[in-house]
Amino acid sequence: MKFQRSPLQLTLLYLIVASLWILCSDTLLLRLGFDRVALAHYQTMKGFIFVLFSGFALFYALNQHHAEQLRARVALKRSEERLILALDSAQEGLWDWDMKSDRVYYSRRYCEILGYTPEEFGDDREAWVSRLHPEDRELAAERLRTLIEERSPYYESIFRLRHHNGDYRWLYARGQLLLDEAGEPSRFIGTSSDITQRRADEDSLRQAAAVFDSTLEGVLVTDREQRIVHVNPAFTRITGYTAEEVLGRQPSMFKSGRHDDTFYRALWHALNERGTWSGEIWNRRKDGEVFPIWQCLRAVRDENGHLSHYVAVFSDVSAIKRSQHELDYLAHHDPLTTLPNRLLFGERIEQALQRVRGEQRRGALLLVDLDHFKIVNESLGHNTGDRLLRLIGERLNDAFGPGVTLARLGGDEFGLLSSDCAQAEQASQLALQLLDCLREPFMVDDQPLFIGASIGISLFPDDGDSVEQLLRNADSALFRAKSSGRQTFSFYSQDMTTVARQRVRLESELRQALEQDQLRVHYQPIHALESGAMLGAEALVRWQHPERGLVPPGEFIPVAEDSGLIGAIDAWVLEQACAQMRRWQADGLALEFVAVNVSSRLFSRGELDLRVERVLRDSGLSPQQLELEVTESAVMDDPERASELLDQLHRLGVRLAIDDFGTGYSSLARLKSLPVHKLKLDQSFVRGLPQDREDAAIARAVVTLGHSLGLRVLAEGIETAEQAAFLREIGCSLGQGYWFGRPQPAEHLRSTPPQG
Ligand code: C2E
Ligand code: MG
Ligand code: MG
Repeated sequence: MKFQRSPLQLTLLYLIVASLWILCSDTLLLRLGFDRVALAHYQTMKGFIFVLFSGFALFYALNQHHAEQLRARVALKRSEERLILALDSAQEGLWDWDMKSDRVYYSRRYCEILGYTPEEFGDDREAWVSRLHPEDRELAAERLRTLIEERSPYYESIFRLRHHNGDYRWLYARGQLLLDEAGEPSRFIGTSSDITQRRADEDSLRQAAAVFDSTLEGVLVTDREQRIVHVNPAFTRITGYTAEEVLGRQPSMFKSGRHDDTFYRALWHALNERGTWSGEIWNRRKDGEVFPIWQCLRAVRDENGHLSHYVAVFSDVSAIKRSQHELDYLAHHDPLTTLPNRLLFGERIEQALQRVRGEQRRGALLLVDLDHFKIVNESLGHNTGDRLLRLIGERLNDAFGPGVTLARLGGDEFGLLSSDCAQAEQASQLALQLLDCLREPFMVDDQPLFIGASIGISLFPDDGDSVEQLLRNADSALFRAKSSGRQTFSFYSQDMTTVARQRVRLESELRQALEQDQLRVHYQPIHALESGAMLGAEALVRWQHPERGLVPPGEFIPVAEDSGLIGAIDAWVLEQACAQMRRWQADGLALEFVAVNVSSRLFSRGELDLRVERVLRDSGLSPQQLELEVTESAVMDDPERASELLDQLHRLGVRLAIDDFGTGYSSLARLKSLPVHKLKLDQSFVRGLPQDREDAAIARAVVTLGHSLGLRVLAEGIETAEQAAFLREIGCSLGQGYWFGRPQPAEHLRSTPPQG
């Protein structure tokens, strides 16, 4: 049991016990009746006993008190330690301002926050005030003043104090004002903590939040299960979805369907392996529009390394793509005419070159320069010039199909590229078409403007195998075209230019010839070698040229074939021949047949049978009296088709001959199956007869072959009696040649005797 009495109680107790002891012991001694000596002796002993007991009592009391104090001190020390530990672990420094003495206690931790030991720091108010940041001084003083004036018990403040190293630290202070009995402030005590780092963190959080809200890039955050937990305003602006519409849902809701599973698998693989993925991805907006974004994905892990979130930052790149596309278009097109510009033209030439290399094809590059365009610009102004250029661009663009690249190369220069020009002929056709296209006037501001052009042509791969070389060569051809009088074209190769120009002239003249009836048909007699009788005649076309006189077919048939005029020519000859045959019959000239040549071009084109049928009908000539000559090469080029056509003609009842036999490569098996009546041994094998042994052998072989196939054989180009005799001897039944008669107008035919 603890002895817990106040000092007053103890003293009173002592006085009572002592008084009782004196009273009781004295009374007892008196009652016992001792003598004086004995009484004095007992009195002394009684005094000693009292001193002894009270001494013990005092010792006991003091001992108890001391133990109590010790316990209290230990407890106090413990609690102080606990407080210090608690403050330390909370990183709090303690301050205690005794306002009466104006001394301040700063705890060790408090001083350490600012880089001092307590001894260095000081122990008065000045130690704190002098270290306050100048900007915070006024505010701190104001806070303190109001605290003291209003006697508000609690205090809270944030300010900066200078660290030992000169930096300032943000401190967060909380405290309490203690009042004395008179209600006057006596003590101000509290704690402070260093919140510099926290402030910096808060600052950066605030900044991050501002960035998050104000960035133009969409931000989307999902949790580990890919449920959307956060989006920013830009996300809403870009996708059209508000935060409420997407929170809790999965980003897969934006899938556009443009990417397959492999794409998403690769994305997740990268995200799981490396923690990040970035790339272009097509998503779908709320309104359904599919659009491209550039997206950076990042996996976020917590402090323990466990996956906690995914963050996606993306920007809408559709505008960039569009402008890239536009830029690309601008970089490759001429803004005035919207045609491809020089750059794109160069690329197209390069591609065409690669194609022709791989496919053994040929192409043509045409450089077009407008003639005297400068005059338009100078006299009518650049606006008019521009408008004219635009109209030219439009008209040319309409005129040339998709197989041709048309470009404006700058100023008044245009380019034309065709990667399908098997022959120079086609390139010159293109050039003519272009010149023709410009012939009609252009209406600019209700004013007709005429403009011509000069064209330079280079062919590839013949004239160069690089873009530069082709352009350079076309340019030098253009220079030549300009210097040869403009409104014309030139090939890079001079020969090509001459030939092409002649052909072009010939073609247009031939067209005229057809219209103006300049063609003639001459007839060459065909004789039986045995009897010498004239059995028939071959119709051979001639051109009665106004300046050049009679032009032989060898000079214009190829042009007619290339330009397509051959159809009209052959048809005309056929009509003439049939009509002439009828006239001869009427005049009593009894010929077995009239032979007409059919061009290989026409031969393979079909509808020939219809035409022949019509002419026969119109003329009234019996089909057996018409013989059609088809060259051996035309037949053997495509034997299947030839056989079909010949069958059709055969069904009409006309006779069929294979012309120029021996110059092609006939397959005997094929020959056997064709419905032909006659082989015409080419004149090149007749020329050396009878001396030339090879010619003789060939002639003999052809005659034998004809006989064995049941065909008649006719020898062309017989010029001498010996040739005729030789051929007759080897069994050739028919002959044709100058010895019998030259091709001549119909009216001369009757009176031609064999020359001899
Ligand atoms: P072809 O059908 O083989 O005609 C025979 C050619 O040999 C004719 O030449 C004729 O004048 C020539 N000739 C005839 N006898 C002799 C001779 O003894 N010596 C020499 N050196 N030549 C002789 P032409 O009239 O110049 O005709 C050439 C070719 O033009 C013809 O060869 C034929 O393939 C073609 N041709 C002529 N007229 C027509 C036609 O109306 N239509 C078509 N498609 N082709 C025609
Ligand atoms: Mg012929
Ligand atoms: Mg012939």
